[in-house]
Amino acid sequence: MAHNKQQMLALTADVLVIGGGLAGTWAASAARRAGASVILVDKGYCGTSGVTATAGPGHWWIPPDPAELRETAIRNRLKTGFGLNDPRWMARILDKTWTTLPTLEGFYDFSRDPNGVVQYRALRGPEYMRALRHLIDSLGVTVLDHSPALELIQRPDGSVSGARGVRRQTGEDWQVEAGAVVLATGGTSFLSRLLGSHTNTGDGYLMAAEAGAELSGMEFTSYYTVAPARSTMTRSMSYAFATYYDESGSVIPIPAGPETTRPLARALLRGRVFCDLHRTPDDIRARVPTISPNFLLPFRRWGIDPYRDRFEVTLHGEGTIRGIGGLRITTEDCQTSVPGLYAAGDAATRELVAGAISGGGNINSAWAVSSGQWAGAGAARFAKANGPASPGHALGQAGLRPAGSVANVDLRECLNLVQDEMLSYNKNIFRDGGRLRHSVDVLERAWRDVSAKALGVGEHRLRTREVAAMLATARWCAASALARDESRGMHQREDRPTTEAQFNHRILVGGLGTVWTRGDQRQALELAS
Ligand SMILES: Cc1cc2nc3c(=O)[nH]c(=O)nc-3n(C[C@H](O)[C@H](O)[C@H](O)COP(=O)(O)OP(=O)(O)OC[C@H]3O[C@@H](n4cnc5c(N)ncnc54)[C@H](O)[C@@H]3O)c2cc1C
Repeated sequence: MAHNKQQMLALTADVLVIGGGLAGTWAASAARRAGASVILVDKGYCGTSGVTATAGPGHWWIPPDPAELRETAIRNRLKTGFGLNDPRWMARILDKTWTTLPTLEGFYDFSRDPNGVVQYRALRGPEYMRALRHLIDSLGVTVLDHSPALELIQRPDGSVSGARGVRRQTGEDWQVEAGAVVLATGGTSFLSRLLGSHTNTGDGYLMAAEAGAELSGMEFTSYYTVAPARSTMTRSMSYAFATYYDESGSVIPIPAGPETTRPLARALLRGRVFCDLHRTPDDIRARVPTISPNFLLPFRRWGIDPYRDRFEVTLHGEGTIRGIGGLRITTEDCQTSVPGLYAAGDAATRELVAGAISGGGNINSAWAVSSGQWAGAGAARFAKANGPASPGHALGQAGLRPAGSVANVDLRECLNLVQDEMLSYNKNIFRDGGRLRHSVDVLERAWRDVSAKALGVGEHRLRTREVAAMLATARWCAASALARDESRGMHQREDRPTTEAQFNHRILVGGLGTVWTRGDQRQALELAS
């Protein structure tokens, strides 16, 4: 590894992993175990950043014997995936997760049940991420913390060969030339105040699209989580026992089952909504501090007993985090549509395993663990097969190399606009063609402005790129939602309430200057066979 302090930190490695959350750390470990030299960069501190670090993730965890257990689980999940998930990929992640989690012994203190049986399925997020940091440190992965990537580097043959970014604590630039790159930058909730997601601004989607990558499933972004109003505390388990009230104190009827978002959103569009948790069984109350230690913190601060007192609630949108879309995967080792560029975790589409409903709650973590390792090993193989890192050119456009004359762009205003189009209940939960067309137009105008004029300088480079990435992501989401001219799973169109056979395929999207969408006909053939 070379180091030139004068201009920038310049390093080389076989594999560069961008993002050090759940998927990125598993990717780095797999690449290292495959014999590659590995650098991992994270925008925050690898070991505490990313959405797992604040959560208590459960994994999709089903024993291989008897075989019927997994067959039944896959069959059940297929029924709820609305035709977009693939049983082969589901079987792959069940298998990979099952063999992987026990390898964290020695790094993570797994719980045991009363019979002494080790419990691998549900882990404590903060300790899990700390364990993964220790794991990659022990394997000799070079980690650059607080070092967001801003743009990818591409070789003349079109393959991706590294990235550039900035070290936030020193202001110094960094450049890594690599044989292959794994994007594990997570999804984006468009800075909705979802706990743990403030570094997830869709950067990976933008960087990959600048290299020519395609995305898939970006219409599935209407997953929302209940939180006390004016807080980021989106630990949702306890709300299974919630009673909701409108401003007059009348109980808001919520139908039995998991679908609380739409009735709650309707009530929130009418006025303020309150909640108490008095129906929570005693044994659950006793376990909450262990399962979600941070859940009670805001209540304690406010002097509220949530099991007795009413408190105001809101819904925070999760965008693509517990939505489904992301970079399209084209090979079993999670390569994107660009050679040398791999995607893992929430940066990649999870339609393969989740279908058209949210993959949160077991499937996403199993996907992050598995896709991380496939991507890491795949990137290591690509680097080995294609020789050492070689020079390329930097690809960043919006916010770094504006297409027109530089002028002031109000980033706050632009972010407000993106949030309004992507998070408002009346636009994103209750969709219709007219409103979606309007969103496409509004976002298009904003994009023209940002891509032509915005230039982030110094410490503002990161924020400028983040806003550009969220805006680009919003454009792909709105275009895909408009293209899916039906209702399916999480994507519900008021003007098209039924699910249509002609849309039994995934929707691909991409493009920067001009956004395009098209049906993934290859996938339709796979399903047919
Ligand atoms: C509240 C909540 C609860 C959840 N519970 C469950 C559950 O019980 N079961 C389940 O299966 N799934 C669950 N999920 C989903 C699961 O947590 C995610 O699927 C998983 O964490 C995704 O991992 P990831 O590595 O892709 O993304 P993340 O863990 O979000 O990591 C992304 C990383 O990329 C970094 N990054 C971003 N941009 C850049 C950049 N430009 N340069 C460098 N680094 C960058 C970020 O700092 C971050 O560290 C939950 C999600 C949420 C929000």
